[in-house]
Amino acid sequence: MPQGILAITEQVDGSFKHISFEVLSAGKKIADSLGGSLSAAVMGADVEAMAGQASEYGAQRILVANEEGLKDGLSDACTEAAAQLVAACDPALVLIGATSLGRDIAARLSARLNAPLAMDCVDVRVDGDQIVATRPVYGGKALADVGLTGSPAIVALRPRAVEAVADQSAGEVETVAVDLTGTALNLVEKHLETGKIELTEADVVVTGGRGMGGDDFAVVEALASALDGAVGASRSAVDEGWRPVSDQVGQTGKVVAPNLYIACGVSGAIQHLAGMASSRVVVAINKDAEAPIFSKCDFGIVGDLFDVVPAITAEIEKL
Ligand code: FAD
Repeated sequence: MPQGILAITEQVDGSFKHISFEVLSAGKKIADSLGGSLSAAVMGADVEAMAGQASEYGAQRILVANEEGLKDGLSDACTEAAAQLVAACDPALVLIGATSLGRDIAARLSARLNAPLAMDCVDVRVDGDQIVATRPVYGGKALADVGLTGSPAIVALRPRAVEAVADQSAGEVETVAVDLTGTALNLVEKHLETGKIELTEADVVVTGGRGMGGDDFAVVEALASALDGAVGASRSAVDEGWRPVSDQVGQTGKVVAPNLYIACGVSGAIQHLAGMASSRVVVAINKDAEAPIFSKCDFGIVGDLFDVVPAITAEIEKL
């Protein structure tokens, strides 16, 4: 049986996303318990110089697919590159972040390699000779252990579920020539706000719900900006067309686990809680003292969000 672990990293504009260090750290722990080695896959254009940083989190071998066709991070091309990097190191376990791109690559890789996949996991370990992943079920009310039979097992880890622990190794960087023929390579247009903190990576998330009453999220945006955080939205706010789907937090949206989650005008439906229940500190602002969110928060403020949120922002800006 192969013993190696491959951690598929993600980068943006030549910098690793934090999830990369988390999957590397999870991989290092498994590699140590299996007595195997940890490899990192780094994909993108002009990524050779930054790839070595993967060794700071335990990667002994760093496989780089450095191609212009990977510049836009499209899942078709990235899956092709990832499949070729998997073939280059024949791992027992492939770890990847359960981000938008990671989920896409994980599912495609699983189908292509006919390999078992556990999505959206919060832990992974070795039990006997089996890889076991832990994933929340029933909207986060329970945890299920999933045994993966077959090789390579693919496990997609939720952002911020596993701690990134620096563990320097003498990592060797190897560039692997990947063939991207036949894949979709380039975006015609890219609509990304530069400087925007990604929801799943953010340390602070300020979410607006139906209580916002319209598409003017200025008070929520101002608080998020004062805290260097990201803006989230409930599904109601998204369904109303006030925020993009990419901002949705919850069972059918993104799962976030920031240090601080501030819910503004959100009632606290179970499907919303499923996306933010792992946040370390939850603050709720709602004008209805009976709102269910108050039984799930650490600090609750009963009041009109249009009074409370600007007052908090003003105090933070004084610091
Ligand atoms: P509401 O429930 O309408 O609550 C609005 C709150 O704002 C109220 O508590 C009100 O008191 C408060 N409020 C109003 N005005 C103010 C004010 N001026 N100041 C302060 N407070 C104010 N929901 C998600 O969020 N994410 C999901 O991923 C998701 N997935 C779902 C999947 C399924 C299969 C289903 C069936 C539902 C899903 N939902 C999801 C929907 C979910 O059930 C709720 O309908 C939704 O979360 C409610 O959003 P809300 O809290 O913004 O709105």
